[in-house]
Amino acid sequence: MLTVRLLKRLKYYDRLIYCPVCRKPFSLGDELNMDIGNTLTHKACFNPLRNKDSGTYREIIEKYPDYFPLEDEKEEYIY
Ligand SMILES: [Zn+2]
Repeated sequence: MLTVRLLKRLKYYDRLIYCPVCRKPFSLGDELNMDIGNTLTHKACFNPLRNKDSGTYREIIEKYPDYFPLEDEKEEYIY
């Protein structure tokens, strides 16, 4: 379901996180892989041996909202 909170999350994280391999920001439609350490890279920049999940940046934000907190959610996490 598309909630206001999800829309805020997508808008906030669009182009906020950079690929550690090619140094370009992730757009919501980019195909990404997530490795076993939860590091995101573009599908094309990825080492498939460490794959944990794949999908568009948008799909990954929707599936793992805890990894993409909004400002008012960050106090719940201990770093
Ligand atoms: Zn990349």
